[in-house]
Amino acid sequence: MNPDFPILDGVMHAESVPLPRIAAEVGTPVYIYSTAAIERQAQAFRAGLKPAGRTHLAFAIKSNPNLAVLRVLANQGYGADVVSGGEFLRALAAGMPAQDVVFSGVGKTRAELGLALDRGLGQFNLELEEEGHVLAAMAAERGLVAQAVLRVNPNVDAGTHAKISTGRAENKFGVPISEAGAIFSRLAGLPGLKLTGVACHIGSQLLDIAPLEVTYARMGQLVAELRAAGYTIDRVDLGGGVGVPYRPGEVPPSLDEYGAMVARVTRDWDVTLMFEPGRVLVGNAGVLLTEVIWVKPGVVNPYVIVDAAMNDLARPALYDAFHDFAAVRPTGARMTANIAGPVCETGDTFAMGRDIDAVASGDLAVLRTAGAYGATMASTYNSRALVPEVLVSGDRYAVVADRILPETIFAAERVPDWLAPAASAPKTRDA
Ligand SMILES: *Cc1c(COP(=O)(O)O)cnc(C)c1O
Repeated sequence: MNPDFPILDGVMHAESVPLPRIAAEVGTPVYIYSTAAIERQAQAFRAGLKPAGRTHLAFAIKSNPNLAVLRVLANQGYGADVVSGGEFLRALAAGMPAQDVVFSGVGKTRAELGLALDRGLGQFNLELEEEGHVLAAMAAERGLVAQAVLRVNPNVDAGTHAKISTGRAENKFGVPISEAGAIFSRLAGLPGLKLTGVACHIGSQLLDIAPLEVTYARMGQLVAELRAAGYTIDRVDLGGGVGVPYRPGEVPPSLDEYGAMVARVTRDWDVTLMFEPGRVLVGNAGVLLTEVIWVKPGVVNPYVIVDAAMNDLARPALYDAFHDFAAVRPTGARMTANIAGPVCETGDTFAMGRDIDAVASGDLAVLRTAGAYGATMASTYNSRALVPEVLVSGDRYAVVADRILPETIFAAERVPDWLAPAASAPKTRDA
């Protein structure tokens, strides 16, 4: 189904690399990304927007911050949308010019604003009026002028999961679109600030572009109002949010249709259009490779217990997300099963009662569409290792993030010397 993870001679590959080879050499669980898949999506997104004129494309780093992935996208001419100082440092470390980086986020600290100013960040997306005043003062103090846009909340329901909806009035992001003009007027003249645009981002994993069209039309009205009030508007940031197929048969928006819609709605704007795609570029470029530990009998269906868990891939636990499960050596046989990881929480369940490729203990399998919001959300909960990442290109692969072992994690922890040594404690067990 996914051309970048083909079955060749009965074995799933990433491009030309057999997955069992990676499992043997790197171990499991492990994220595996296809360079070709990322490049193809990056090019398709750009090509779709061709009719829309001047654009700036900024990869939303939070979806996959791995340095090698960032380098692939930098080589495709993408800048970055960052939401923390750490992500900004990653963009720079991956070789992205600071000027090509956009800084979003509702809680940028003074330290992060200072770092961004000092390192020449390209654009601040302001999320509240006070942030604009603080940034202007900090820039003026440094003898700089900060390029900024005002993020507005258009009050549009993106029709996606509540936890990844960002454009409804009650959400924490942006300023109410009805107040944007007044806030713009109080910020636009400040020394230290060059406020010449507006931004929006209504949510993630949109499978219908209609809410985006409604949003963009509202942005167009706002641009007209701001210009009528005498302000220069040279850029509009239209955010990210275009979805990807997770379930077999799910149809994502076509990037050509998306681009055509953008071109139609923004035809008269005469601005640089900025985009912050994340998931659409990398979601289907990654799988999480895992090994079946046990097939455990269950009351209704058996549990396929795999060595990947909610700490490695949090989306099912966080958003009830669906990730397709497939055997690395499919035989054609099927089974109905629950799929779960080893973590001691019932939430550590990838699927219940699902029809899947039949697998047995020791078999390899993948959870698909794991390239976005996968490794980036991984934790070491249950003192599990931090999951490694591999990037494949043709018949080559490289480990682009090491597995970080529990011993390494707890080496950063300290027991203060005023805690009694265990030897002087009461006995754990009566003799
Ligand atoms: C998360 C986020 C994005 C990327 O969203 P995708 O759905 O992955 O495209 C873009 N812009 C902002 C401000 C975000 O918070």
